[in-house]
Amino acid sequence: MAFFTRFALFSVLSACLLSAGLNAQHRCGFDHYVQHQREHNPAYFEAYRRVLASWKAAGTERGGGGVYVLPVVFHVVYHEDDQNVPDSVIYSQLEVLNEDYRRLNADAVNTRDAFLPVAADCEIEFQLAQTDPDGNPTTGITHTYTEQTGFSLDLFGTTNTLDAVKDSEQGGVDAWDTDHYINIWVCNIEPTFFGQIFGLAYPPAGLDNWPAGSSAPSPELEGVIVHYTTVGRNNPFAGADDVNDNDMGRTCTHELGHYLGLRHTWGDELFFDVCSEDDGIGDTPLCGSGDQYACDYTANSCDEGTGDLPDQLENYMDYTRDECYNMFTQEQKSLMRYVIEMLRPTLLEGVGLKEPCYDGSISVRPNPASDWITCNFGKSPMRHSVLIYDMSGKCVKTVQQADANTRIYTGDLPPGLYAVTLGDSRHTLRVVIQRP
Ligand code: ZN
Ligand code: CA
Repeated sequence: MAFFTRFALFSVLSACLLSAGLNAQHRCGFDHYVQHQREHNPAYFEAYRRVLASWKAAGTERGGGGVYVLPVVFHVVYHEDDQNVPDSVIYSQLEVLNEDYRRLNADAVNTRDAFLPVAADCEIEFQLAQTDPDGNPTTGITHTYTEQTGFSLDLFGTTNTLDAVKDSEQGGVDAWDTDHYINIWVCNIEPTFFGQIFGLAYPPAGLDNWPAGSSAPSPELEGVIVHYTTVGRNNPFAGADDVNDNDMGRTCTHELGHYLGLRHTWGDELFFDVCSEDDGIGDTPLCGSGDQYACDYTANSCDEGTGDLPDQLENYMDYTRDECYNMFTQEQKSLMRYVIEMLRPTLLEGVGLKEPCYDGSISVRPNPASDWITCNFGKSPMRHSVLIYDMSGKCVKTVQQADANTRIYTGDLPPGLYAVTLGDSRHTLRVVIQRP
């Protein structure tokens, strides 16, 4: 595996810039991160290989476990009003993630036949946090003004300067307990000399199998940073930075792939030695330096001999336009689920997804009722689950994420006395169901 020096990186990127003109852009700063790791932690690839080896030993045909639901919090950090991405755009982003990671994306039909056998429903979902680290109700979205006009990545520095957005003392917002929340910072990432970086994510760090004294980031730096124009697919400022191929919310899909342990489909050898470096994933064909936004379906940069396949540019871990992405593979799914189970298991404890306590009152009308009840819990901005129990204590109905004024069908319940309760179990009302 070639090791390239900072000078080599510079000259190669310069060449790239010349050929790509002033619109050079980077899906993410992960390349930089890898470069940094190579320089400061020679055992990085050794550690990565060990993770891959233990994953393969555990069997890449991983199944079971059901759908993993991971709590996320978005921290919108803005200087200009444009950068204060509204909640509606965050909701849109969440929809995109839950489509892409469940293969419910409408453009899944665009996956080429050759890759259909390996296209995966990753059975991973993301949910906005319902409680913050102090147990208080939250929408899972924070908005914070900063004096910083933007946050920049110093491509030649030895520390990741973009991480200032994660530090309240540097004009950012501190992470919520990264063991229990996926933190996603949305901010203005300043264009670098080489173009716009859309986002950055740390792969799993602080692992048992990482060498002592490695320069892996500290826990409060875990998470994902995305450039504010790339968020959601209804972003009023998509394209405001003259980048137009990233307006479908796929930057976040890509960065979370890194967060869950995936590397770029071409490995991370930026431009050298194009076919000998791999991403460690068996069902992504070897490829050179990725699609680089060309969306070129004829590309076949590496000949793998018998059964050779074209470059899999529709993979979320390639660098292509948002409109050309549409799949993860079965092995990528397997690795991400392994990472969740073994390396980020505390995310599954559901801490941030606990039903928030509600300190208002609830009412149910009419009472007695027949086919419908309306459960009202005042002006709570939060959504709650509503459960109905029969007199034997059996839960006969559950409505998830009900809003403050929710109509529930009761026409299928036998006449009798029922208890209607909010998910926090602190509020219960009795209601009589009768038939005329
Ligand atoms: Zn990337
Ligand atoms: Ca090929």
